[in-house]
Amino acid sequence: MRDPDRKDLSGVAAVIAAGGTGTRMKSRVPKQFLEIAGKPILLHTIESVSALEPVSQIVVALPAEHIPRAEAIFGRHPMRLEIRCVPGGATRQESVRCGVAHVRADADLIMVHDAVRPACDRDTMLRVLQAARKKGAAAAGLPATETIQRVARSGRVLATPPREELYAIQTPQAFRAGILRSALERAHEAGFSGTDESSVVRWAGHPVTVVAGSPDNIKITRTLDLDIAELLMSKKARGKSVSAMGESKFRVGQGIDYHRFAPGRKLILGGVEIPFAKGLQGHSDADALAHAVCDAVLGAAGLGDIGLHYPDTDPRNRDRCSLEFLKEAREKIEAAGWTIRNVDATLLLERPRVAPHLPAMRQRLAESLGLDPASVNIKATTTEGMNAEGREEGISAQAIALLGGKQE
Ligand code: MG
Repeated sequence: MRDPDRKDLSGVAAVIAAGGTGTRMKSRVPKQFLEIAGKPILLHTIESVSALEPVSQIVVALPAEHIPRAEAIFGRHPMRLEIRCVPGGATRQESVRCGVAHVRADADLIMVHDAVRPACDRDTMLRVLQAARKKGAAAAGLPATETIQRVARSGRVLATPPREELYAIQTPQAFRAGILRSALERAHEAGFSGTDESSVVRWAGHPVTVVAGSPDNIKITRTLDLDIAELLMSKKARGKSVSAMGESKFRVGQGIDYHRFAPGRKLILGGVEIPFAKGLQGHSDADALAHAVCDAVLGAAGLGDIGLHYPDTDPRNRDRCSLEFLKEAREKIEAAGWTIRNVDATLLLERPRVAPHLPAMRQRLAESLGLDPASVNIKATTTEGMNAEGREEGISAQAIALLGGKQE
């Protein structure tokens, strides 16, 4: 048995309710697929959930007819976690129930979030998860800032509930898995319909704790919300995501790559062709140095590795110049609010002698990364005849990269 009070929050499954049809938007495109800041709303939301380390599974519940569209989007934007799309139900509650049915049995907590809340920050999600871990059920909420009246159909005010007791409840909401599963099943059997999961869980008899939500965590419902979300996302891209990566202003990343020698191939290292009898085997141009640098840069930003973004099963990457991967890695980390400060890398090989080519490699790597060559250092060493490199089976490279928060 795991200790329910333990500090770590692994074993969290996220269920994303993406069932809306967008009737209020008068748009033929369902609102979760409308674009803000150049990306579908659903993708913004899933990316922020996927970036949350405790989350180990993501299930998106959406109308069956929209699944191919969502899968195509996720296919073009690989993330840390594989995204599972499942058909939802007739109501939001039923959709969440369908999503929960696909959650792995070993998940301790289930976090439910709306697909159309793309601007939710990491701290809000963590607050909800921590409270759910402790109390069993938690939701993000904001104290009401306006007076809320109970009003009859006739328009007459019936009652003025005390404002200090009124909160607008948002998602994310999180629950111990057993609590949410049994509440949804009981509600399904009894025909009870709540406006959110916290209502269903409370109806089922389990207390729910409200923790501070975020005013930025808007639910995109009206056309005006798209403009507001666009503003919020650009604010986030300008630097807020730096705090989303933690409080540190700097991040360091490491990259290691190995390639075997192969006859009949060009030897490319650091974007420079080096005259030699053999080249390196690989799907792309097999530039081990560029690959190690790419992994260091992506790794520092917490964006996975080169294999995630450029799988060797993708024919588009065949024989591709690896400097292009570097350019794109730089764009990705800049989009996440980081800039590269410096890179240091070492080639490990017995032959050929690469010292005369190091300045050219430095120049080419610096160009691809948008850096001054002074911020890129390339070294080479033999392994004194030891290891695979020493036996001349191939070449390896190691790199580290330092990233800093983007300057406004
Ligand atoms: Mg490689």
